[in-house]
This record gives sequence, C-alpha cells and structure tokens, in this order.
Amino acid sequence: MNKTSFVQNLVLATVCALLTPAYAQTPQPKAAPKPAQTDWAAALQMSEAQRANFPLPLIGELETIKAAALSDDYAYRQLAHLTENIGPRPSGSPQAKAAAEYVAAEMRKLGLEVQMEEVKVPHWVRGAETGELVEYPGQVPGAAQKIVLTALGNSTSTPGEGITADLVVVNNFDELKALGRDGVAGKIVLYNELFDKQKAAAGMAFVSYGDSVRYRGAGPKAAADLGAVGALIRSVGSADFRLPHTGYSTPAGIPAGAVAAEDAELMAHLAAQGKVRMRLTLTPQKLPDTTGYNVIADVKGSEHPEQVVVVSGHLDSWDLGTGAIDDGAGVVVAMEAAEILEKLHLRPKRTLRVIAWMDEETGGAGSKAYSQDHASEFANHVAAIESDAGAAHPLGFDVRMSPQAVELLRPALGVLQSFGANAVQPSPYPPGADIAAMSEAGVPALGVLQDGRTYFHYHHSAADTLDKVVPGELRENAAAMAVMGYALASMKDPLPR
Ligand SMILES: [Zn+2]
Repeated sequence: MNKTSFVQNLVLATVCALLTPAYAQTPQPKAAPKPAQTDWAAALQMSEAQRANFPLPLIGELETIKAAALSDDYAYRQLAHLTENIGPRPSGSPQAKAAAEYVAAEMRKLGLEVQMEEVKVPHWVRGAETGELVEYPGQVPGAAQKIVLTALGNSTSTPGEGITADLVVVNNFDELKALGRDGVAGKIVLYNELFDKQKAAAGMAFVSYGDSVRYRGAGPKAAADLGAVGALIRSVGSADFRLPHTGYSTPAGIPAGAVAAEDAELMAHLAAQGKVRMRLTLTPQKLPDTTGYNVIADVKGSEHPEQVVVVSGHLDSWDLGTGAIDDGAGVVVAMEAAEILEKLHLRPKRTLRVIAWMDEETGGAGSKAYSQDHASEFANHVAAIESDAGAAHPLGFDVRMSPQAVELLRPALGVLQSFGANAVQPSPYPPGADIAAMSEAGVPALGVLQDGRTYFHYHHSAADTLDKVVPGELRENAAAMAVMGYALASMKDPLPR
C-alpha cells in the first residue's frame, strides 16, 4: 500500500470507527464514551505486519473500548458485591461457592456461554489464634507480652490450651541449619526474615516478596524436619500497622503462623538477651476436600470461535480480609472486558474467555483442573492474561512470549499509552499462577503489571478490603484488560509463539 492510499484509508477507517452502526444504535444510559483521537503519527509508523494485524478500524474499536472502560463502574460494582455482600472467599467455603454462582449468573446476564467446571478443592478453616511470651529477660512478675499473629494455611492445630515452648529466632535457613536438631527440637522457631521495604517502595515489591515468601512456604516444613513443635514467620508484608499476613505454607505437620513485623522485632530483641518461652494457640482445621468451581464464560468469536484468548483473575481469597485486591479486582476487570464488548456490541474474531479461577491461594486446584481438561485445546489458546497483583494504577504487562509477538502487539500497547499502561516487562516465568500451565505449554502469557508499591501493605491481611481499591485505578485496569483482550482476539493473525 502506498502512502497516499494508506492515508486515505486511515481517514476512512477513522470515520468508520466513529460511525460503527451497532454502536451508534446502542441505547446509552449515560453519555456515550467518545472515541479518543487516533494518533495518526503513531499509526503511520507501524510496520507492515503491525498494520496488517491492526488495521485502522480495529485501532478505532480499541480506542472506543478504552474510552468506555475509563468511564464504566461495572467492575467496581461487581467488586463491591463480591467483597461486601459475599465477603471472604477461601477455597472450600460457602462464600467461594456463592461467588462462583454469582459470577456465572452475571456473565449469563450479559449473554455469554457459561460453564461452571467442577474442581476438588481443599478446605482449611481458621480457628482461635493467640500468642504470648510467658518468660523473657526483664519480665515483670506476672506479666506477659502479647504477640499478634495469625495461622498460615495448612497449619495444624495445637491443643485448645495451646503449647508452651522455648523460642528460637533465626534470620534465615542457614542459621536454622547451623542450629541443627539439637538447637531446634522441641522449640518454636521464628524466622525473622525482613521484607525489603525499600525495594518495594522503589517499585520492586515482587522482588521483596519473592525473597521473603520462601520462609512462609518452606520455613515450617524445614523447622518441623528438625523437630520443632511450632513455626512462625515474620509477616511477609510492607506496612507498619502490626498486621499479620497469612498465606500458603507447605504442609509441615506442626502449627505454623505469621507474626506481625513489630512482634518479630520484639521476639528477636528479647531472644538475643536470653531465654524466651512462648505460649502458642492455633486451632485451625483441615476439613475434607470439597467441590469448587472455575467459572468459564465465553464471548464467542465471530470468525475463529475455536481460538481462545483468556482474560482472568482468581475468585478465591484468603479469609482475613475480603479479598478486594487479591484477587477480586482481577476477576472483575476480566468480567468487565466482556461487559464492555456486550455494551458496545463489539464481537471479537476469536473467543474471548473470561475465567474466574478457584483455589489459587491454597494449591491451584482450579488451574490444574483446567490444564488437564483443556490441554488438547492449548494449541488453539492464542494468549492468556491474568490480573493478580492488585488494583493499583496499571503500568503495562509482564509478558512471557517471543520478542516478535511483543513487537506485533505494539499498536495495542499504543492505545494504552495515554494512561501509562503500555510498559512491557519480559519475564522468564509465567506472569500469573493460574495461567502458568498454559504458559509452560507455549501459550503467550500476560500479567497485568500494577504499581505494586502498596500492594504488600494489605496482601493476605485483614486490611485487604474494598476501600483499598481506587475506583479510577480499577477503571484503568479494566481498560488495560479489555483493550488487550480484544486486541489479541481480533488482530488478524493469532499471536506468534
Ligand atoms: Zn492472588
């Protein structure tokens, strides 16, 4: 195509995009979102392959989707219902089941084809949880020091009256190993590994998390292997409000908990001065596995319905808060990606599949079941997106795909540039736990990359609640998900692998 005819097409296409008849006839409850001005200069700089995959009418549709998402409160309303009306949604709980039924009903309301796919999920429930130091250097007779703590997932139970044992504090696995069985057996171990708040504040929160979360995952088992009777970790979190943060821990056969960072400091200081004894009461229960559901809702593709683009988040949450940032937000922005298309009467070429995953937090039963049941379709899974890093302002995407695929997506990223969600961060790892199996099978994978500076203030704590979600930022996340999902589902060729 020569330049003159390209410019003519561009003008025509822009006009067409502005006058898409279905959209023009759609009854609009509020002021119709205005398509933003197409960036002609950027459009003219597209490569041949980009231009072929993102013809101007498609760019116009993406701009329209973005504008609609940036003025839509659908995702926020859904999040309010999931977190406040339904509440915490731990795997195996009645709330998790109710949430799955709710999401399925909402997707049916939009006219999507909905399946609730059964998954066998674990069911662990929290009990009493208290801790106190009952003996320590300088103790005032009769006094005790309260320790703020919470049980970790998979913790076993102490007797109702708790256990009382000597405390041993280590900073890392090497120190635990150096103590050996003689130094650990019969004791309660505290891992006082610091969450690196500076890194988090500088935008590297997931690096801090990765460093610390190893102790939550493997610490209790390592302590149990040396004969410990209980294991505690310093909470994996970045706030200073004496909040304990729960999370998954490998079954260790002993009571396991997380103490607030402030209490970990206290325990470490006192243990450095002399003998410390602690009473620990944790009475969670592991109930029989039960049935959960992945909700799978399809906007069927108009040309290649068998080709699938997944937009997703996980519906289960921890029990302390109401799972607003982790990960109600991810589910509702995926739901909104479908809602926007229905509202605008836009039909993608490929199937846009909304998935609300079950059991990300306690073992990933939902994603495992999906990858078993749908493995034969993965060759036709064109791409998968998950949002599971909160609801703060989106910066772009973590991606695990070929550089050629990233290049081809530039025009879609260009649409997101106006609100800063166009960054691409290549990742050697799957950019989402629930889409990991797909990513390992070669499906191009994207994770919405949010500003993570405050995410670990609240993550897995009682403070993960709706008020932490800024409506305008949630809209930006919905726009990022909807634009990228529709782009992947409507570009000319499936994304190269
Ligand atoms: Zn999550």
